[in-house]
Amino acid sequence: MPSKVTTKRPTAKSSIKDAVKPSKGIATSPETTLTAKPIRTPTKIPSTPIPFFTIEYSLDKGQGLIAARNIPAGTCILSESALVVMPQKLIKHPHKASQFIYNALKKLPLHLQDAFRQLHRNNDIIPTETALYEIFLVNCADRQDGAEAAVYKTFSRINHSCDPNCEQAFEAKNNKQVVYTIRDIKKGEEIYISYRNVLEPSTLRLPNLKRHYDFVCKCPVCDMPEEKIQERDRKLIQLDKITSFYNSQQTRPIRSKLELLRRKYEFMVDLDIKTSVLAQPLFEAMNVCAEDMGVRGAIFGLLAHKIYVRCCGPESVDVKDIEETVLEPVRDMIIAVRWDGETILGMPKTEFMDWLWGKCELA
Ligand SMILES: [Zn+2]
Repeated sequence: MPSKVTTKRPTAKSSIKDAVKPSKGIATSPETTLTAKPIRTPTKIPSTPIPFFTIEYSLDKGQGLIAARNIPAGTCILSESALVVMPQKLIKHPHKASQFIYNALKKLPLHLQDAFRQLHRNNDIIPTETALYEIFLVNCADRQDGAEAAVYKTFSRINHSCDPNCEQAFEAKNNKQVVYTIRDIKKGEEIYISYRNVLEPSTLRLPNLKRHYDFVCKCPVCDMPEEKIQERDRKLIQLDKITSFYNSQQTRPIRSKLELLRRKYEFMVDLDIKTSVLAQPLFEAMNVCAEDMGVRGAIFGLLAHKIYVRCCGPESVDVKDIEETVLEPVRDMIIAVRWDGETILGMPKTEFMDWLWGKCELA
């Protein structure tokens, strides 16, 4: 179910604490006092890390996260525990759900109860208990493959863009929601995730955003001239047709399947898709090649792994799954073909891509 985001504690905060502590002892260390020299040698004060973002208010979008510094792609900017987690099956029962949220909040410290209530879309009004359900619905995010929905203090503040600069993932190992940058972000830019599948054409995406979140998206993609929006939609619809055709042709020869997956992947690259959905055709190609084409399957696995790590972090379920079930058994094979992260055996990149998608064989 579509949901909004919640907060987690930025890793930068704990770093700040750690960095400040040593600086307290700098001016009056025992050695300095005993020698009583009139001139102190210059001491380098440890710099305090700048947090990744600040939470700011704007009239049109309410609160959102604004980058406090330049952040490179592939950075974890948030890792946060939930305020309230609810089984997904309860959500359809407003009365039971409200009771569940009320009881869950009672177990939290007062400042976290307030943090939950402040997620109400009108920040000036402290909502009554009857509004708890609405706060949860508007701000929750799916986790555990949709079995649960959760609301977070900071993550739930992240606004939507159809062309997001970040992606969220749930780390089951430590029960935390994480957010990774998928593009380089400049200081002052807003942090965005996508509340919807980024491959939906605007004709589906915009009504869904209105229905589930009650807003009209004005992101750079939705703000493009009408003919550009239509051109992008045509590509997304074509991409969907390729996917449907691929799914209906499971008995085709491997090379035909690879050709369809190559077209799907290249469409996504052409659309400048940067989220982990870009790994899907590579992941499917890995499965197609797993038995009959050996090393190709391993290389597709490596490429999908690289995208998942960048977008969802090294602890995400997809990353662990590829590492344990695909890459570990063929580690020796990968070493033998001298994979350097971009190509194999020192092949030029274009030649490598032709080989990878089955257009030619290794000499
Ligand atoms: Zn948009």
